Amino acid sequence: MIITRFAPSPTGVLHLGGARTALFNFLFARQNKGKFILRIEDTDPARSKKEYEDDITNGLKWLGLEWDEFYRQSDRKEIYKKYLKKLIEEDKAYVSKETRGQRESVIRFRNPGRKIVFEDLIRGEIEFDTAELGDFVIAKDEESPLYHLAVVVDDFEMKISHIIRGEDGISNTPRQILIQEAIKAPRPIYAHIPLILGPDRSKLSKRHGAVSVSEYRQEGYLPEAIINFIAFIGWNPGDEREILNLNELIKDFSLEKVQRAGAIFNIQRLNWMSKEYIKKKDIDELAELCEPYIKKLKTQNSKLKINDVIKLQQERINKLSEVGEGIDYFFEEPEYKKELLIWRDSTEEKIAAHLEHLSKILCDIQESDFNKEKIKEAIWKYAEEQGRGDVLWSFRVALTGLEKSPNPFIIAEILGKEETLRRLKIAKLKIQK
Ligand code: GLU
Repeated sequence: MIITRFAPSPTGVLHLGGARTALFNFLFARQNKGKFILRIEDTDPARSKKEYEDDITNGLKWLGLEWDEFYRQSDRKEIYKKYLKKLIEEDKAYVSKETRGQRESVIRFRNPGRKIVFEDLIRGEIEFDTAELGDFVIAKDEESPLYHLAVVVDDFEMKISHIIRGEDGISNTPRQILIQEAIKAPRPIYAHIPLILGPDRSKLSKRHGAVSVSEYRQEGYLPEAIINFIAFIGWNPGDEREILNLNELIKDFSLEKVQRAGAIFNIQRLNWMSKEYIKKKDIDELAELCEPYIKKLKTQNSKLKINDVIKLQQERINKLSEVGEGIDYFFEEPEYKKELLIWRDSTEEKIAAHLEHLSKILCDIQESDFNKEKIKEAIWKYAEEQGRGDVLWSFRVALTGLEKSPNPFIIAEILGKEETLRRLKIAKLKIQK
């Protein structure tokens, strides 16, 4: 059975890189009808925090990466102790008196100093001479195992078949293989995935912008978009497709296609993918997701049909937090200079007459018929006769105070008849002043 694990240390929040490691483990397990384990590696009590563990588990759940089994290394001390004792009994490890450092003694692994060769699914054959590692420390004492021992014991006990982790794990592998051999554990298959790099090709970090999953969540990226995006950092399905959801990824993911070279993080790509997912969302669902970002707006104009505003924005935004951007005119009366109402070399008199006429036409539409089709139908003929620029430009500016906006018919519909007429009147007064 294929069993994978994501084994984060809770010494920081969940980053995109960690999420990608989790995703690859998840995909590989699901694809093979195997098991995906989440293991919190909190053997370092000084640096491990519960709040980080919570951030990691919440982030994974939000992304939809549900695990089949959960372990926490601090709950498993007895197990490591048993292995430590045995290693010492067999003289494969020993208590070493220390003269330097803070401790009087530590437990060291008796390193046979062999050459280790292992096959990595992504990197190919990797060779290490372990002699230079010396007798490395595997525990402070029997109660306090260190990282390498705990990892190896757990991977063995949990029957991990594939270790998929970041490339920075490569240098740990030889030590871990030595410990595996000492406890007679079979060697799992390794796949070290490339690091995520910033646009300047250095390791992705805070310097390059947001790196934690929760920051992206707060900014209003959809989890589907994050999943799609991180899947494509250093991997692609080998064809034209770029939008793949979790189920499609489970079907098409392959470790063999993961590239070796570092993979560049490209925020424009995330924005593009995110936009695609937002466009596809059902409007009611989207409205619910936008809730935290429009609370303030809602109270400013309680009559406004907020779902219509969201629908209008749905085509244009990259992330949910942008839902209220560029549409202040829905919530407050637009401010603009009267010159803005005048299209090219038209005149104040002409524009005033158009605004007057538009008011009349729109006034004749019944309240219940006041929708974009009817509004357009009513205005269109007049606009064609009088010059579309003249009429539609001033209509737009009267409603929004802007030179650019979505089409004014839909804006009028959303504003409603009363407010539309009111704004036309204000515009006319402005120009006649
Ligand atoms: N706990 C280690 C870390 O967070 C990873 C262990 C592993 O994947 O083998 O860096």
